[in-house]
Amino acid sequence: MNRDLIQQLHNIVGDAGLLCDDAVTSRSAGIWHQENLKATVLVRPKTTSEVSQILALCNAHKQPVVPQGGLTGLVHGADTNDKDLVLSLERLSGVESIDPIGRTLTVLAGTALEDIQKAADDAGLFFPLDLGARGSCQIGGNVATNAGGNRVIRYGMARALILGSETVLADGTVISSMNTMLKNNAGYDLKHLFIGSEGTLGIMTRFVLRLFPKPQSANTAMVAFEKFDDVPRLLNHIDEALGGQLSSYEVMWKDFYALVATAPHCKTPPLSTEHPFYALIEAQGTDQQADLAHFEKVLSEALENGVIIDAVIAQSQRERDNLWALRDSVDECNRFRPIYYFDVSLSIRHMESYIENVRREISHNFPDGQCFVFGHLGDGNLHLAVSPGHNDNNSHTKIEHIIYSPLASIGGSVSAEHGVGLEKKPYLHLSRSAEEIGLMKTLKQALDPNNILNPGKVFDLA
Ligand code: ZN
Repeated sequence: MNRDLIQQLHNIVGDAGLLCDDAVTSRSAGIWHQENLKATVLVRPKTTSEVSQILALCNAHKQPVVPQGGLTGLVHGADTNDKDLVLSLERLSGVESIDPIGRTLTVLAGTALEDIQKAADDAGLFFPLDLGARGSCQIGGNVATNAGGNRVIRYGMARALILGSETVLADGTVISSMNTMLKNNAGYDLKHLFIGSEGTLGIMTRFVLRLFPKPQSANTAMVAFEKFDDVPRLLNHIDEALGGQLSSYEVMWKDFYALVATAPHCKTPPLSTEHPFYALIEAQGTDQQADLAHFEKVLSEALENGVIIDAVIAQSQRERDNLWALRDSVDECNRFRPIYYFDVSLSIRHMESYIENVRREISHNFPDGQCFVFGHLGDGNLHLAVSPGHNDNNSHTKIEHIIYSPLASIGGSVSAEHGVGLEKKPYLHLSRSAEEIGLMKTLKQALDPNNILNPGKVFDLA
């Protein structure tokens, strides 16, 4: 990178905003990476105006820019190479304001998700976006990847929670659309261009988030099923019976449940490990006692009707936390190495045969392999953790083919919530038509003609 460019970057962000050489390469490349960050320069702007000046400068020099947030992504969407300039949003951070009447929160992109949840809670309100990385992921990354998580069934993905946004285009133009209203049909809703674009169309710097009333009750249960058909049957039944209170419906296939509910991770499983399917169910409502009584009634009816064969309902916050700890213990899969993680979407009606087919292929190709399945069934989103049982160069690609190929014919998606990044780029065509990808490229070329923003992520332009 030429010295003149570095000097001009310094003029914009000052000493504290510019890291070079060892100060860059001594940083971690991300929580899922073993190695350190590769880049020439890392800039840390404190304002939207600084982001704008940086991008205008980089665009003039055709200098690639890789935006980075909390680095908790799973698809190499923020990966860099030695020549890159990293634009970290870490100093562009903080909750700016909360409007308790309009139920909105205005925040800068580098703010940790957990800090936003806490600020909303302190104001007597609720920001529902939630995922395991809440303490380190940043809202800018959550929005740029349209994050999902554990409460999508009730509140939607990140996209549904953003009312307004401020975005800097590749040439430095600031598109400020800090809308605070639920309704605004005055022309195109431009924020949706940038949400989920993984930093390839613009760099989002500020948001107006939608807040919700704080739930006053939470009821949580773990249930077991004898056959897969009963899993969606119970989902539809309780969704109706709970009148909109259902907030999570997390399914676990037997092998995942048995892994997380037994030693060394868990002393006593809440339900025996012999059943083929389990679901963790949570409802959030308004009155703890009355809601618990109704929750118990709905589940005991399901037990009487044979839809579920066993159930345990948490009677305290501690028991609730213990049930969630099982679902959140995805790390236990790391006992098997190497291990590869997937997040696919497909209609519930295809899930059982799809997973049977994947398992058959995995055990045929990798006799020592392991396949753990769990996920947000209510959203049509399954997670798979697959280990080939041994290290060989082709196993990852072979497993990707086994998991992704069958999705095309059933209208599934190679990415439910993690995005595309570099990892799923070769498989994007399985979930998007040539015309869809063509339009994505047209938009990219229109908004970033010099291809400086996170180049090479999601798709290649050539
Ligand atoms: Zn997930």
